[in-house]
Amino acid sequence: MPRGGVDQLSADLVEWVRYLRDIGVRELRCAPATLAQATRPAEPSVAKQEGPRVSEIPTVESTPRAADPAIRLAEIREELGECTRCKLAAGRKKIVFGVGNPRAKLMFVGEGPGAEEDSRGEPFVGRAGKKLDEMIQAIGLQRSEVYIANIVKCRPPDNRDPQPDEVGTCAPFLYQQIDAIRPAVIVTLGSPATKTLLGTKVGITKLRGTWHELAGIPVMPTFHPAYLLRAYTGEHRTKVWEDRTAARARMDRKQ
Ligand code: URA
Repeated sequence: MPRGGVDQLSADLVEWVRYLRDIGVRELRCAPATLAQATRPAEPSVAKQEGPRVSEIPTVESTPRAADPAIRLAEIREELGECTRCKLAAGRKKIVFGVGNPRAKLMFVGEGPGAEEDSRGEPFVGRAGKKLDEMIQAIGLQRSEVYIANIVKCRPPDNRDPQPDEVGTCAPFLYQQIDAIRPAVIVTLGSPATKTLLGTKVGITKLRGTWHELAGIPVMPTFHPAYLLRAYTGEHRTKVWEDRTAARARMDRKQ
């Protein structure tokens, strides 16, 4: 048994599995020998990751928040620099870092910039953005009061889903942003954002409308505004209404 005994072994295993999840690994097949080696975090073979691991996001209960979230966000932006850490850099016009109130109580996390966001360097400014603005206003808030970011900061070509290595490289910056802002509630928009933040393979249809957690912060998954543009049925409208009012109520409870 390694130094520290069973507790240390369990803690190391948990950290290692979280690390793999963080770099985009969604399936783990482990032989006993592999498990035995896992007492030390392994170097990932799937993707290079820079920045912190998801397991390094301090829980909101366990660590003090940044004295000034705006300054902390500026530091994270500086660390990101003119990023070329993944292949999305080659096709982007502008990095879409995130926008909004550094002390927001409500944070939205989407998938990745589209063409318009890529040109302007701001998330959710195209058609899906207008729909998101409607969602925000419907719960009595302005865009400037919330914070909006994506799981990747550069536009995936042809608006395809971000790939695991891209998410694994970029999401640590998002986790740092979340830690700087410490919103009372996070709303994930669509499957890729939800799967990334919750480390699950379960799709949005199953997860939406139920509460989850990231580093002690309640997370409410809901449909992506672009999906609503394509399928704005009465049923979807009702579900999104339920999700966003639940998020607003939980946010108000945390004030
Ligand atoms: N869709 C997203 O997921 N994010 C954006 O910023 C724009 C469209």
